[in-house]
Amino acid sequence: MRISRMRWYLAGAALACGAPPAIAADSSRIDPGFDYHSYANVDQFLVTHIELDLRVDLDFKTISGVVGLEFKRLDPRATQIVLDTKDLTINDVNQRATDVLGATAKSQTFWVSRPFHLEKPDPILGSALVIDLPPSRKSVESIRIDYETTATAAALQWLTPKQTAGRHKAFLYTQAEPIGTRTWIPLQDTPQVRATYKAEIHTPSNVLAVMSAGNDPKVKRTGDYSFVMPQPIPSYLIALAVGNLEFKETGPRTGVYAEKPVIKAAAKEFADTESMIAAGEKLFGPYRWGRYDILVMPPSFPVGGMENPRLSFVTPTVIAGDKSLVSVVAHELAHSWSGNLVTNATWRDAWLNEGFTAYLESRIMTQVYGEQRASMQAVLDLRSLRDALAGLNPKDQALAIDLRDRDPELAFSEVPYEKGRLLLSYLDAKFGRDRFDTFLRGYFEHFAFKSITTEQFNQYLEENLLERFPGIVTHEQVLAWENAPGIPADAVLPVSSALSQVDDARSAWLGGTLDPKKLGLDWVAQQWQYFLDGMPAELKDVDLRRLDQAYGLTRSANAEIEHSWLELVVRNNYQPSFARLEEYLKTIGRRKLITPLYLDLMKTPSGSEFAKRVYALARPGYHPDTVAAIDAIVTPGADAEGSQ
Ligand SMILES: [Zn+2]
Repeated sequence: MRISRMRWYLAGAALACGAPPAIAADSSRIDPGFDYHSYANVDQFLVTHIELDLRVDLDFKTISGVVGLEFKRLDPRATQIVLDTKDLTINDVNQRATDVLGATAKSQTFWVSRPFHLEKPDPILGSALVIDLPPSRKSVESIRIDYETTATAAALQWLTPKQTAGRHKAFLYTQAEPIGTRTWIPLQDTPQVRATYKAEIHTPSNVLAVMSAGNDPKVKRTGDYSFVMPQPIPSYLIALAVGNLEFKETGPRTGVYAEKPVIKAAAKEFADTESMIAAGEKLFGPYRWGRYDILVMPPSFPVGGMENPRLSFVTPTVIAGDKSLVSVVAHELAHSWSGNLVTNATWRDAWLNEGFTAYLESRIMTQVYGEQRASMQAVLDLRSLRDALAGLNPKDQALAIDLRDRDPELAFSEVPYEKGRLLLSYLDAKFGRDRFDTFLRGYFEHFAFKSITTEQFNQYLEENLLERFPGIVTHEQVLAWENAPGIPADAVLPVSSALSQVDDARSAWLGGTLDPKKLGLDWVAQQWQYFLDGMPAELKDVDLRRLDQAYGLTRSANAEIEHSWLELVVRNNYQPSFARLEEYLKTIGRRKLITPLYLDLMKTPSGSEFAKRVYALARPGYHPDTVAAIDAIVTPGADAEGSQ
């Protein structure tokens, strides 16, 4: 997922999880590999295959139907399987008759009702669904759960036609990482369980359904769609979108799904996707997922991108017209190796997904667009990490973060991304590119389709790099990266001469010795971002006006540059750009771009009045996660439970 640079607005929100496993934070050692955010009894049952048969009702905003779970029984004496659910209505649970009655059952397709109950809900984890099963010596069993979603399902966003780009048809999408899948499917919602899946999705016949599975670009719109995901994936990667989508090919195994008004620009922007896959394969080993398509989301999509396998979901705010923001695609694609192929076993290990991916993203960007562009991005990202570290308590600056009794969403600060990337860059620099690349390819091969802990990574690292080439990096140095706060003193930090020039130009401009008309004529987007982000806290209206007149910043087509400009606008209360600010907040729901603006607006009485008025208008169009985040900023305390 690409959500970084989110402010740490949730950090203070300690949670009271009433559920097992109730190990009080700080009072005991973390059990590595134990998922503190799932109720599933994975030591007794392990789901290996999921079959969905679901109806999507865009008018009533519900998904209803049946999920079939096929699981391995690890404990013949176990009499209850426990699943994760949140805000779901469970209508019925059945078990395959041959699993209950043995050979006396009449046929394979005969099902028997099983007793079940939902435990008391926890505000974060939801309700455990406990299903009684007879003890059995069978190794594989199946159950079917008849269920429906409710209006509060956090992973689902239902858009009215007016909230879409095309404005004619409703739209639904899921965004589940880390633990949202349990709000639309009852299952073992933990990344350490991997399952293949099949799905039959029924929709109105005038819309198209796509999933994180095999999508046929030539499929006809019938309202009945079938999907197969033959590779085992963790639950957070099961994803669905339904809308008035069109498809455009961009390469032999790549293409773009988007609404009609966006499809042409999207295909042009993402034309280099095939080159990115080729770069990834050259560096990290084969791409193992068949096709790679991109789904361009409605503007309300709360994150930059989501690495749903075979079909990344990507915010439309990266379509700038000049490919300047496509590092988000490199990021989601890189997850095809780090995250989707080798997955974090628990959310404490999220840095194995995101740190690796940030590093891989940078390698792919270097390969396709050159060293200069990749190093500019790395410097911008390092600055974001430093900003984030300044606001984080030392415990949360560790790569392997203690999330016991807390929302696993807290795993996704800058730290796992950028500090994780710095650790890999450090190993790369210390051992040399050739040795490190061999290590990386071996790592992806060795752990392919497995979910692993930080400790498993450490052991593999030790055997295949640290001990193979002794005397370069010690085990203790790696542990310090993973567990100590801050950036280690011997980190290898990125530098960019293209950005150093920008520092010089900014100083000259601030000193009055550079005409704005002569500024940055050949700059790329990253240089503009860096130029604006590095401005002093206060600027005069006259200077802002001169900048805007020379460069049309208020009308920038680049959502990142626009964001940096609007930060200056808010900080300096520069009224001529407030109409644009209002439009920006009302049309974009990507948290990284809007959260800092709301935070800064709330610092002054007039800004807070503006924020409240605009938010009231924008709120119905935001995703539930964005609503929760902005509620906590604009109307803190109004909805204590919902603010999570
Ligand atoms: Zn990511």
